[in-house]
Amino acid sequence: MPKAVLAAADDAALLADEARYCSFGDTVHYTEPPKIFAHCEGSYLYDGAGTQFLDLQMWYSAVNFGYANPRLNDVLKRQIDILPQVASQYLHPTKIELARTIAQDAERKWGRKGRVHFNVGGSQSVEDSLKIVRNACHGKSLMFAFEGGYHGRTLGASAITSSYRYRRRYGHFDRAQFIEFPYHFRGPRGMSKEEYGEYCVAKFERLFETEYNGVWDPKAGQCEYAAFYIEPIQGTGGYVIPPPNFFTGIKRVLDQHGILLVVDEIQMGFFRTGKLWAIEHFGVQPDVLVFGKALTNGLNPLAGVWAREELISPEVFPPGSTHSTFASNPLGTAVGLETMKMLAETDYESMVMSKGAHFLDGLKDLQKRHPEIGDVDGLGLALRAEICEADGFTPNRKLLDRMVDIGLAGELEHQGRKMGLVLDVGGYYKNVITLAPSLHITTEEIDLGLALLDQLLVKAKRG
Ligand code: PMP
Repeated sequence: MPKAVLAAADDAALLADEARYCSFGDTVHYTEPPKIFAHCEGSYLYDGAGTQFLDLQMWYSAVNFGYANPRLNDVLKRQIDILPQVASQYLHPTKIELARTIAQDAERKWGRKGRVHFNVGGSQSVEDSLKIVRNACHGKSLMFAFEGGYHGRTLGASAITSSYRYRRRYGHFDRAQFIEFPYHFRGPRGMSKEEYGEYCVAKFERLFETEYNGVWDPKAGQCEYAAFYIEPIQGTGGYVIPPPNFFTGIKRVLDQHGILLVVDEIQMGFFRTGKLWAIEHFGVQPDVLVFGKALTNGLNPLAGVWAREELISPEVFPPGSTHSTFASNPLGTAVGLETMKMLAETDYESMVMSKGAHFLDGLKDLQKRHPEIGDVDGLGLALRAEICEADGFTPNRKLLDRMVDIGLAGELEHQGRKMGLVLDVGGYYKNVITLAPSLHITTEEIDLGLALLDQLLVKAKRG
């Protein structure tokens, strides 16, 4: 237990004020009543009454290195005494050092020179990437993206995000053409994962067969689409992991037709999958890479874009091409730089892969006892458990909603005391537990998480 849990606030009074004064336009009211937390540490959140909640989603992977990580918090505190704020039209050392660290890493891995452009949130950096791509492709404004893909809720990012629900009320902004992603568990029967990947690549490639397929002018050798936006593993789409050969197939088609590859690492970056960038598992090189979330472990927001020199050099992307007041804020860049130093000092790859293997084994075990778990899968500590009817296939969103509510009620049992479990829901059918625990989670905490999931399933199935 933490030393000082905040005194139990009057949650009922706070919720009444929230209902009166806060917009409901965000995602808070996906849960009723919304939950108020008062304290956090490591893998745990605490409510005002001091109840401990094991968090298996860590702010959708923004807090990869544990809540209140002492090393990162200390850097933030130190930066407050050195240079807490400065307008983004001036330079400060950690901005330059962080950009250099990311660009040098990319150059080492991919042999490509590039530059980094910072912004505050993921969606804003996706917007910046759209500017970079549209500018480099001389104003081409159309993009490919995946069914099940998520790139943010600003207008430009919503246009390349598959859900029509996010766009419906706001008019049109060059909606992407959405391409089938090899979501094997729900793919055509009788196809292996690899075969389904090849099938999706072939289906994409078919678009370029003749001019009548609608995207390619063979006489001019031009595609109407500037770039393909991908998540290496679908995040909001339900932690769907494609077969290993998939992106090499997609990239071959892109290269043949002069289309850029933009990799969105906002959720899967920073060792979530056991590599700094999830795309490193798949043997292709991005032209543009967007990152955010865990860069600052959920402290001062910072996100950014890395792009190949040809796309972002001062000649093509000159001063004033884009700007935001809080872009490259010094509290964010100081923490981001420390994150990168921490990642370079520890073997995160082995650590994450072995913890992920242990967690996945436990999920497979759980699946044997609960036929409602239709599918489990994982890469590093990005894991999925798909909640279904007893047939192990028909999506059962209601059961998962009940599990989430019971977890948030904080009434599970552990060693004679009450505990809660924080889960995130994703997937095409909103029936997938998308598990993104702290990368610093211990084996004991993983086992605790599995025991709590077991309890949750038993309770939720009782109705
Ligand atoms: N891309 C991906 C893959 C994401 O997961 C998210 C956030 N869930 C975003 C973009 C948008 O980032 P933000 O919420 O910081 O705007």
